[in-house]
Amino acid sequence: MSDRAEFLIDLSALSTNIARLKKECGVDVLAVVKADAYGHGLIRVSHAALKAGASWLGVALLEEAITLRENGVEAPILAWLVSPGSDFDSAITHNIDIGVSSIKGLREISESAKRAGKKARIHIEVDTGMSRGGFLDEWKDLPTEDFSQVDVIGIFSHFARADEPGEQQNIDQIQRFQQMVQELGDIGINPPIKHLANSAATMKDSPSYFTMVRVGIAMYGLTPDLTHLGTSKDLGLRPVGQLRAKLHLVKSVPAHSPVGYGASAMTQSDTKLGVVAIGYADGIPRIAQGAGVFFKGKKAPIIGRVSMDQFVVDLGSDSTAQSGDWVIVFGDGSHGEYTADDWGRASSSINYEIVTRIGPRVPRIYQSHEY
Ligand SMILES: *Cc1c(COP(=O)(O)O)cnc(C)c1O
Repeated sequence: MSDRAEFLIDLSALSTNIARLKKECGVDVLAVVKADAYGHGLIRVSHAALKAGASWLGVALLEEAITLRENGVEAPILAWLVSPGSDFDSAITHNIDIGVSSIKGLREISESAKRAGKKARIHIEVDTGMSRGGFLDEWKDLPTEDFSQVDVIGIFSHFARADEPGEQQNIDQIQRFQQMVQELGDIGINPPIKHLANSAATMKDSPSYFTMVRVGIAMYGLTPDLTHLGTSKDLGLRPVGQLRAKLHLVKSVPAHSPVGYGASAMTQSDTKLGVVAIGYADGIPRIAQGAGVFFKGKKAPIIGRVSMDQFVVDLGSDSTAQSGDWVIVFGDGSHGEYTADDWGRASSSINYEIVTRIGPRVPRIYQSHEY
């Protein structure tokens, strides 16, 4: 499998990023490892993150949390997208903290806890202005609920615009959060852990820290927002993943050759084309234009449409590349190669989507063996 494409993961870079973020914010760090650790590999990244100083792990799905427990992770784990009807029995058995954002969810968790004869650990999610997850309309009903079967470990919320520092909505969300913490206190519930900040807020908004921050994209060395915060490099982050692939074939073609499906592109002059052995089934966006690969100090842009398993790049007529050579699809940019930021921009998307969509056919190869 690994003879055509691989995602190289530098866990020492991950460790450096976490240590730095933890030092800068001075509160507990929850490492966000949902979606297979943003494509970087759930288990290896989680162990490395804890070793580097994170004290919590955060995932979206219960299955992700259970996989961590089954792989020997004993640190506290919060799963925040656990809908009513989920297997709360397993969550309780595995000592997994559950994010709760509805009365229905809270009641089902209480039922499971009663059956298990053990209190469930929950974090109450509140909607402070994003209108996505969290209590809002049902907040007024919460005071009448029965909390006897749960330990309320945390209260949390999520920013909509943390990647735009200075936006009034960020200030409003912090105020609303403080108010909701207070209202919960008024009914006698005082969770020890209060958390609101994501990566962008952790880097730019110290009033949002409370007792813990939830760090995702920045831990992987990527910028939360190219437009408002600058590149990963501008932020001094070390990108953790490098995607590389093999040139399946290099060949010379004459000027005016149509390239790929739909003949959407044409060679401008006599040139060498490289067929790169990775495609949209592996997460390379089909619409990407303006990115490409890097070989021996030189960028080679995509020409034509990305196919399912491959895409074509224009290497230039003087290229020394040969069939079977490896090229960098994206890396940390230090040699001049394209970055995940570049691929995001080239696809009208963001680096988050580029890394999380790298498919299961691409093996993850870990470069720091101490983890
Ligand atoms: C994904 C997620 C995060 C991490 O966001 P980043 O921008 O990657 O730091 C934090 N909190 C919640 C609730 C999330 O869903």
